[in-house]
Amino acid sequence: ATPLLEIKDLQTTFYTEHGSVKASNHVNVTVNKGEIVCLVGESGCGKSVTAMSIMKLIEAPGVIEGGQILFQDQDILTLGNKALRNLRGNDIAMIFQEPMSALNPVYTIGDQMMEPLLQHTKLSKNEAYDKCIELMEKVGLSRTKQLMKSYPHELSGGMLQRIMIAIALSCDPKLIIADEPTTALDVTIQAQILEILKEINKELQTSILFITHDLGVVAEMADRVVVMYAGKVVEEGTVLEIFKEPKHPYTKGLLHAKPVINKFQERLYTIPGQVPDLSTLGDHCFFQDRCEYRMDICGQSMPALTSESTTHCVACWLYKEAPRKKGLKI
Ligand code: SF4
Ligand code: MG
Repeated sequence: ATPLLEIKDLQTTFYTEHGSVKASNHVNVTVNKGEIVCLVGESGCGKSVTAMSIMKLIEAPGVIEGGQILFQDQDILTLGNKALRNLRGNDIAMIFQEPMSALNPVYTIGDQMMEPLLQHTKLSKNEAYDKCIELMEKVGLSRTKQLMKSYPHELSGGMLQRIMIAIALSCDPKLIIADEPTTALDVTIQAQILEILKEINKELQTSILFITHDLGVVAEMADRVVVMYAGKVVEEGTVLEIFKEPKHPYTKGLLHAKPVINKFQERLYTIPGQVPDLSTLGDHCFFQDRCEYRMDICGQSMPALTSESTTHCVACWLYKEAPRKKGLKI
């Protein structure tokens, strides 16, 4: 496997009145060429902050304090604004939960689809128009010429998300970062959007970093899974390893929790207890208050992420010999 994106030791912290919140706390994630990696966890676990850090989209009071974001071996965090703009919407495209917020209400769909093509490619206006029609067809939209003249508010959520994917594809990105792209959609439309993303991955070998709290989506999409809890990666493995042999008690909890379908038809997995206040955490396992396997060592020292196999890593004292060596009692 050839790495396309390597998030290395990322530290993104928010300085609030209530203290500093380590939203992305020494996070490592690799996305290889042609791969779909799902970043999964409850809301507030730091997965969106990690995704936003990739494109340096963190705003005050957030600060990227350390680490590297290597894209094709170049550190994005060292790039200036011009190089960054060139990367965004060109080599790396992003799709968000709320397509409406990414589109400008006063411009037509056509204008907004054409813009990145005219900016990032050498296409003429007519060629760009034809490319837009082709991209719309690719994401399953019909009456495309009509749509080009429409305004965002005239389209449904599912159609808008297809437009966002079409825009994302317009410059042949190598990587798509999708942050809960289907969470606001009903289940039928959600399934269609996931299908489109999988086809793109297969056909064009586009890598996808897919951020979600929904394990149903993970099972559907992922080659590999990275589980985050309280700003840290707690487990990582292939989709089979995570679903068939989960190791971390948090991952097990997520898998055993019964999905509850709420009125937005969103699947919510709930484990008793709450994500801890990230501003008050010390040197201990961040899951200790919710963990049924808790031992003394868990409250005394943070377990590091260590390998169980070449593809499977876990951060939990249950799987370590280390505490004895450190002279701590279990
Ligand atoms: Fe539970 Fe301890 Fe493992 Fe944390 S380190 S998940 S508290 S067993
Ligand atoms: Mg989020």
